[in-house]
Amino acid sequence: MNEFAHQAYIGLGSNLDGPRQHIEQALIALKHLPVTTLVAVSPCYASKPVGPQDQPDFVNAVVQVSTRLSPLALLDQLQALEQRHQRRRLRHWGPRTLDLDLLLFDDLSLDLPRLKLPHPAMQDRAFVLFPLADIAPELMIGATRLSDLLLHMKDHDLQRF
Ligand code: AMP
Repeated sequence: MNEFAHQAYIGLGSNLDGPRQHIEQALIALKHLPVTTLVAVSPCYASKPVGPQDQPDFVNAVVQVSTRLSPLALLDQLQALEQRHQRRRLRHWGPRTLDLDLLLFDDLSLDLPRLKLPHPAMQDRAFVLFPLADIAPELMIGATRLSDLLLHMKDHDLQRF
């Protein structure tokens, strides 16, 4: 990858139909994205679902990629991958076979209907911040240090595999 490559972070989650397998398969697919290199993969974590609790726990991980795709082209790839996992969206915050969130793309701020960067919910989500810190402990999210956000994450219910 050359000096024009962008650094992006992607959050992965699954809580249906063999979640760890969905994550493993997604990692293989991410490795094969066009003009993209998989740079780092966090350990997997088990997390309690956000929203309705009558659904299985999630398996979560975060990856760093180096890519020459544009932000929207990368989002297209992630959404196509979700579709290939026959993602079912039965209800908001309900169970899903594969959820892929584009967390950060360089230090870009975007507020498009299809793509908001940094991902608007990431700062409140232990299942994003802890795996992110495993692979990028020095990361800044806008003007905020990731390590400072973690200091405020007390009552999380995360289990590292
Ligand atoms: P979700 O249910 O969390 O997977 O949300 C999917 C929707 O959020 C899609 O319509 C995306 O276009 C939109 N979206 C906005 N910003 C982002 C982002 N940073 N990463 C992934 N999806 C996003």
